[in-house]
Amino acid sequence: MESSLPPAQPILPLALPALHASHGGCWIDNGRAHGQGGDTFARQVSKGDAIIAAAEPGLIVLNAPLVASRLGYPDLAGLDLLELFAFIFPARFMVPTPRGLAHVLDLPEPQGDAAVPAFLRLAAAALIAETARPAWQEREGAWTVLQTMSRLHWPWAPHLVQTIRRPERAERWLFTRLPEWEEAPARPQPAQVVLEPDAIATRLATIAGSDAEDRPAQRQFAQEAGRAFAPRGRTREPHVVLAQAGTGTGKTLGYLAPASLWSAASGGTVWVSTYTKALQRQLRRESRRAFADRATGERANVVVRKGRENYLCLLNLEDALQGGFQGRPAIMAQLVARWAAYSQDGDMVGGDLPGWLGTLFRRRGMAALTDQRGECIYAACPHYRKCFIERASRASAEADLVIANHALVMINAARGRETGGQPTRIVFDEGHHVFDAADSTFAAALTGAETIELRRWVIGPEGKSRGRRRGLAARLADVASYDEDGGRAISRAREAAEALPGDGWLGRIGEGMATGPIEHLLAAVRDVVHARDESGGQDAGYGLETEAAGLDPATISAAGVAHDALEALRQPLVRLGTRLEAILTDPPDWLDGSARARIEGARGSIQWRCDTLGGWIALLARLGGPADPDFVDWLAVDRSEGREWDIGLHRRHLDPMKPFAATVLAPAHGVLMTSATLCDRRSIDAGAEPDWAGAVARSGARYLSIEPRRFAVNSPFNYAAQAQVLIVTDVPRGDIAALAGAYARLIEASGGGALGLFTAIRRLRGVHGRIVDRLARAGLPLYAQHVDPIDTGTLVDIFRDDPRASLLGTDALRDGVDVPGDSLRLVMMEQVPWPKPSILHRARRLAGGGQAYDDAIIRARLAQAFGRLIRSDADRGTFVVLSSAFPSRLISAFPAGTPVRRVTLDAALQSIVASVSGPVAGAIAPAVSGDPA
Ligand code: SF4
Repeated sequence: MESSLPPAQPILPLALPALHASHGGCWIDNGRAHGQGGDTFARQVSKGDAIIAAAEPGLIVLNAPLVASRLGYPDLAGLDLLELFAFIFPARFMVPTPRGLAHVLDLPEPQGDAAVPAFLRLAAAALIAETARPAWQEREGAWTVLQTMSRLHWPWAPHLVQTIRRPERAERWLFTRLPEWEEAPARPQPAQVVLEPDAIATRLATIAGSDAEDRPAQRQFAQEAGRAFAPRGRTREPHVVLAQAGTGTGKTLGYLAPASLWSAASGGTVWVSTYTKALQRQLRRESRRAFADRATGERANVVVRKGRENYLCLLNLEDALQGGFQGRPAIMAQLVARWAAYSQDGDMVGGDLPGWLGTLFRRRGMAALTDQRGECIYAACPHYRKCFIERASRASAEADLVIANHALVMINAARGRETGGQPTRIVFDEGHHVFDAADSTFAAALTGAETIELRRWVIGPEGKSRGRRRGLAARLADVASYDEDGGRAISRAREAAEALPGDGWLGRIGEGMATGPIEHLLAAVRDVVHARDESGGQDAGYGLETEAAGLDPATISAAGVAHDALEALRQPLVRLGTRLEAILTDPPDWLDGSARARIEGARGSIQWRCDTLGGWIALLARLGGPADPDFVDWLAVDRSEGREWDIGLHRRHLDPMKPFAATVLAPAHGVLMTSATLCDRRSIDAGAEPDWAGAVARSGARYLSIEPRRFAVNSPFNYAAQAQVLIVTDVPRGDIAALAGAYARLIEASGGGALGLFTAIRRLRGVHGRIVDRLARAGLPLYAQHVDPIDTGTLVDIFRDDPRASLLGTDALRDGVDVPGDSLRLVMMEQVPWPKPSILHRARRLAGGGQAYDDAIIRARLAQAFGRLIRSDADRGTFVVLSSAFPSRLISAFPAGTPVRRVTLDAALQSIVASVSGPVAGAIAPAVSGDPA
């Protein structure tokens, strides 16, 4: 980000004390004026003294929850600079560390922990000084919000009242400032166009730019990707192209070239679907060039589209601002209101709302500002015409390119009519995740948490519930009074929903006091799951599950009663959906545009609930009877850290690509699936063909009898010179102290820049707790998922920003981290990433060839984790697996030519030290040696 503060005159540190706490110690600056030069260092104090200081008001800190967790003092309040930043620069990016703050404020970076408190005082003064500058871009609305913040006793308010003066003209209130979206006529269907190879090549050359290096593989890739856009010959037979493209091929521009060409020529929309937010961000940048408006040269018609639960709901925010939130959550709502006025698209998850803002407050508070439960009242909402969700939905119907995620593309394909467009030309980037996304999207979960949500959606608030939530009857009152049949259906649904679990269901089940047919079923499920548990309490605290087979008569009987209760709810909902359809088809006088929009919205969400209920009913209907070979069913009790939080029955498709093929592929005209790890690699031979069988099976094409087109190109990187794989053989498995010691020494050897991947949170925490202080004292900060109170996206930002930082994490980091350059030079895996032995995995393993199925999964995981290491020509790095018995058959997971060695930990350390100070290739032998069978 560009510097935003060129201070006109020297800024003096704020005359308040400041505290910094790292794993290396605690430092306090007492807030008095420093001597000339201003570089006085703070006093190092004990944790106890830091806690005493923290109990006093008016202490400046950066990231209060993080400091609180370092001190073990949860009540820390203080003047948090992150809150001040969020108020002054809403919707601006900042890495929430002293270094990140220094960068964004254009201040000198503090050198070492002891210099941080003085820096915090200076940063506070610089931030406050910004509000006095006439050029402060985010001034509008600040005075009004500050008045409320003063009443809420926000500790920064008294420091801002001097510089943020009452504006001469009254400020516009957020809800009047936001622009309205425009209604647009329906788009004609896209023209049928054939893309000429020369045109694709020219387009690629144009968007890559004249200074781009020549990439023959990228040119080839673009031609192959172009085939997905050819006119379709038969219904239910889309063009399916599978393209394996090694890291560095430049596949993003490779598919954007034909996609933008097709969109311009046909007038249609291309959907590009990703799995990770990192790739979404990259696509947002790169697509601007590819989709630049050819007539005016202005910004491209590119829209990032997410699920509605990601966006701010303005009605929920208004409720929160007008008394719905009290105390700290009310301050959070004011900061969110500041952000909403400057946000590009209202996306609260991965958009321009700082990811760290939610963690400064209660997490659930932030979620309560989104539309999590499908309670939107559409056109009855006073903010409907300014609603971020409605704007995104309309913009995507108009867009040349929609950037979305796999789950949303699948949901839109299933419910295209009600969500504003069914995708027909789709690029699945990170295509190796399509299977997992389909698996979750087409799953059924009849659990307490799901059923209580359905009850609330039908009935509305009960008991002491507050807020604007309303039940189905209130949302559709006009339908009930106009259409007798529809009104009856609403009443019947309302009565039937009483059978669903209500507030306190989990406690009642625990005490043997279940009420209603679903709670009784869940109680029976819980009893069966516990009765069959054979872990002997060893896994206390983790989820339990058992097959939905061999169930006792009492459970089967409870399932039968629950089945009838759900059917009694589904039928009136189906009837209501039919009545709404009839009203839309033959509209009465009162059905103006806004009522139509609301009823269309209601019809869509009723359809969605009917589908969900249908899935649950089918699952219950089969209990006690023969298993359906297409599905895997099981019973589960979900627990975390010793507490049960959900109970239920689960159903997955044995092959989720079957519903994917019917829902996504069949209506599509062209689909490209691409990834660096689409195919398995069973041979280490550099010339070996990729193994397409798995990739083809995981495309779903066979369910439509389509033979997908295949294309593969290797990475241009020189892995023999840029990378090495070290399999460390002398760290005993299961010895957490030895594992922690190995991690610490590896991080020290590489001087940080290490990403440590774990398959279990328990081991991650065990390792982190043992080594974090030692590393901090050596100036090597260590961050960790599931330990630090920081969201994952921000952890990756911090890691990327500091080449001496290291990061520990679990699955989400295996391919959610895109850190080119020096910040990532070592990837460590604590062991071979075996699949979790669940009921679902066992069924798929049996159907998929036993060990060969597992091996393919492990190789894919290794390949994805290795893929974090080398992101550009200039990257160098080492991949370490701590495993005394790493099977040789898994070594082919790594790109051809990568040197792989089995070594002791000492030898690995020497090799890493040599590699960080010289070319990797010189340090290792380019061969696999001493492999056990
Ligand atoms: S239209 Fe719906 S989602 Fe949008 S602000 Fe209103 S209630 Fe919230």
